[in-house]
Amino acid sequence: MKPTILDHLPPGLLDTPANELFRCLSGPTLIHLPGRKTDPLVVSVLQHGNETSGWDAIRRLLKGRYQRDPLPRSLIILIGNVEAAAKNKRYLPHQPDFNRCWPGSILPNTPWHELWADVTKHIRQCQPFASIDIHNNTGRNPHYAAVNHVDPQMLHLASEFSKTVVYFTEPKGVLSDAFGQFCPSVTLECGLSADASGSDHAMAYLERALHLDELSEEFPPPERLELYQMFATLTIHPETDFYFGDLQSEPETQTKDGLYFPSNLDTHNFTEWSRGFRLAQYRGDSQQPLMARGHSGEDVTKLCFEINACAIETRRPLMPAMLTLDPFAIRNDCLCYLMERLNINELITGSVHEAEKTPLPEIIDQPELPKERV
Ligand SMILES: [Zn+2]
Repeated sequence: MKPTILDHLPPGLLDTPANELFRCLSGPTLIHLPGRKTDPLVVSVLQHGNETSGWDAIRRLLKGRYQRDPLPRSLIILIGNVEAAAKNKRYLPHQPDFNRCWPGSILPNTPWHELWADVTKHIRQCQPFASIDIHNNTGRNPHYAAVNHVDPQMLHLASEFSKTVVYFTEPKGVLSDAFGQFCPSVTLECGLSADASGSDHAMAYLERALHLDELSEEFPPPERLELYQMFATLTIHPETDFYFGDLQSEPETQTKDGLYFPSNLDTHNFTEWSRGFRLAQYRGDSQQPLMARGHSGEDVTKLCFEINACAIETRRPLMPAMLTLDPFAIRNDCLCYLMERLNINELITGSVHEAEKTPLPEIIDQPELPKERV
């Protein structure tokens, strides 16, 4: 299995939506386009077939003034899972998840691993300026950039997209980590595919990235960047009931035991809860109506929350991701992931070190869950 490598845009390609690309392309395709500065910007789209904001951003960018003007920098477009895009799926049953098969992957070897290893070698030889891999995720999450290395140039590239940047080392075998071995590399998460603001944001960012002359080797100042890493998963005790709404608004006699969360809880994603934030009102006598667990399963609830007779409050600043109001998802998966802020100044001085393992907060491969959470 080999990728197709082109030095031009096939006629009509920019008019072709992601689900029609299979008519023009036979599979993974690299398109090299020349620009004024020769070290190329690599832009990867459709690693997941149903995440279309990146391809829409590229189409719109190149159909604009670059139809007549030269590109400010050479561009390599990497189009990933054309076959799954035709079916509006992340990947198809006979395929692995493409963004788990890049060098560094821990999945069993497949022909796709070899293909992506070949692509990595090819891209490395092109000595890219930087690499941007564009994805979509859940609805109510704001757009954010993610990096696999706490590296000044990568953080600059990321902070051009969003002030909030997530550092992650899991899952393994992702494109941004493979290309991050030889050039500044980021993953963008652009919200829901169907929401045009994702491709708007990605397009404006790509335009800026094409015009960058260099990426500073100094860490960005703290006011330009909030760097987070995920450190725990928050679940509700299986015996504890939960509700969304105000406990006090219920008539006293009908009040049931359980946790009462704010009814707009899912709008809190990627918003930092300060110390003392009331996450829930509580009626009941369980010592641990909810549980925060770290990467290796350790109980970190008491480090994160104060649980008293009537409320659950945060003990320290925490930022939730992937919060949902869907009871099925909460029972079967989790209420949310908890992220903590990494102090850039401490990273610069070397007084703290990044966590060894920290996953990207995303929910995948659970087709039984409602769509917006996948
Ligand atoms: Zn994705």
